[in-house]
Amino acid sequence: MEISNAEFVISNTDVTKCPKSTLPEYAFIGRSNVGKSSLINMLTQRKGLAMTSSTPGKTMLINHFIVNNEWYLVDLPGYGFARRGKAGMESLRTLIEDYILEREQMTNLFVLIDSRLEPQKIDLEFMEWLGENGVPFSIIFTKSDKLTSGKLKDNINRYLKKLRDQWEELPPYFVSSAENRLGRKEILDYIESINNG
Ligand code: GDP
Repeated sequence: MEISNAEFVISNTDVTKCPKSTLPEYAFIGRSNVGKSSLINMLTQRKGLAMTSSTPGKTMLINHFIVNNEWYLVDLPGYGFARRGKAGMESLRTLIEDYILEREQMTNLFVLIDSRLEPQKIDLEFMEWLGENGVPFSIIFTKSDKLTSGKLKDNINRYLKKLRDQWEELPPYFVSSAENRLGRKEILDYIESINNG
């Protein structure tokens, strides 16, 4: 898929205020600092489209972007909320859960995983919750340029092994780099194939 147009639409903290539209939505989520904003900017080729986590406030909102006037790219808040205090953590969790469980047009959730790290409990538990709730998701291993190809392969295999312990069937997965644009075509083609499906 070529992206001819990508525009910011709305940020909000309330699922009921998301755009009233039936266009399919592809959402992106991951722990803060996983490389989500960089990936969104790389996919859309719009440098400042998604604000990085260093932009105050942006990381606690659901951000809708419209792409090619055909589908929405949705930037969800990061999880791993330890620093926000209990009340903030609960409201953010509710926001994310409401969007994921209630937004009918949410077609696929991309769960971002930092390819440099050992499998993290918080990510595995989150994916387990997605599976239990029948949420369609796929994985993107980010920052692949930071590893040698051997180490990258090892880390991904370690992750897939953990997932195989949890599930009979593995979710689709992609490997990306915002530095060298690895994975861009595969991820966009995947979205296109579902849209045309
Ligand atoms: P977010 O909090 O998930 O939105 O993460 P950001 O996109 O803000 O990225 C966090 C940090 O990782 C920034 O310093 C980015 O420059 C860096 N980063 C993100 N993606 C990549 C990547 O693919 N390769 C490299 N080398 N650095 C990355």
